[in-house]
Order: sequence, then structure tokens, then C-alpha cells
Amino acid sequence: MSSINLTTTTRADRICIAFAGKIDENAAYGSINLNGKIKLEFDFDKVELINSMGLQNWVSFMKGLPADVTIYFTKCPLRIVNQMNLFPGFIGERNVIVESFYAAYFCARCDGSFNNLLTREDALRSGPGKAKSPEQNCPKCLKPMEFDGIEEKYFGCIK
Ligand SMILES: [Zn+2]
Repeated sequence: MSSINLTTTTRADRICIAFAGKIDENAAYGSINLNGKIKLEFDFDKVELINSMGLQNWVSFMKGLPADVTIYFTKCPLRIVNQMNLFPGFIGERNVIVESFYAAYFCARCDGSFNNLLTREDALRSGPGKAKSPEQNCPKCLKPMEFDGIEEKYFGCIK
């Protein structure tokens, strides 16, 4: 049994596939029916694990997607962003647009950590390797939070 589930939704301009589960050695992706669309969105919000044994299948899956589709990644959890930064082969040599992704912020006043969803525009507006725009405020004390990590590394894969 596959360790990952794919839920396909057809939108006006694209096919959206939401992944739920694990990108591991038991993950089976099947084949994608594009229904004539040329945009393909992968929603990673519910991916709870990714391991090195799952990478080979994943990369083959990415490489096997039709050459003429534009691929968008959305709601990438930290583990997916870290994977893209550590292992650029994750995108299967495809041209991938990371539309939205989570980033970790820390409030020193409340001693709290929060994963906030940022958009590609947020990241690009801030300049390369920066996380400042827009300011991420703590949901408790409403004061600006610090990015929890090395900005230059974390934002490296958002281009
Ligand atoms: Zn706070």
C-alpha cells in the first residue's frame, strides 16, 4: 500500500494535486492525468515525512512528468524546503515555481515558535536570502518575530 495519497482537483487553469503522507520507499505516485491543462500544482501541506529512501521514486516521478507542463509547488513545509536546499535534484531538473512555503519564526518575548506561510512574492520582495518582508508578527504579543534559521540558506531555493 502506498504511503502517500494524491488528491486531484481540477481548477480553471491547472490541475492541483495535494499529497498526504510520506515520501518514502513505499510512496507510489501513479500517473497524472493532466486533462489538457498545462499547469500542475503540487500541494505539500500534508506531507509528514520525507526520507532518503523515498527520493529516488520521487525524482523519477518528477522527471516523468510531461515536459510541457509548468510545475508549481505550494504550501511546502520546512522539510520540503530543507530538502530542496540540501538536494537540488529534488525537483527532477524541472523548472519549478515555489508559490508558497512555510518558514519558522521565533518570538523571544513569548518563547514561542511559529511556522508561517509565505508566498514567493514575499520572499522575492525581501531580496535574495531575506525573510523580512512582510514583517512576521507574533500571534500572541503582536511584536515582530525573528526568523528561526539561516535566511541565506533557507530562502536559497526560492527564485
Ligand atoms: Zn510574542
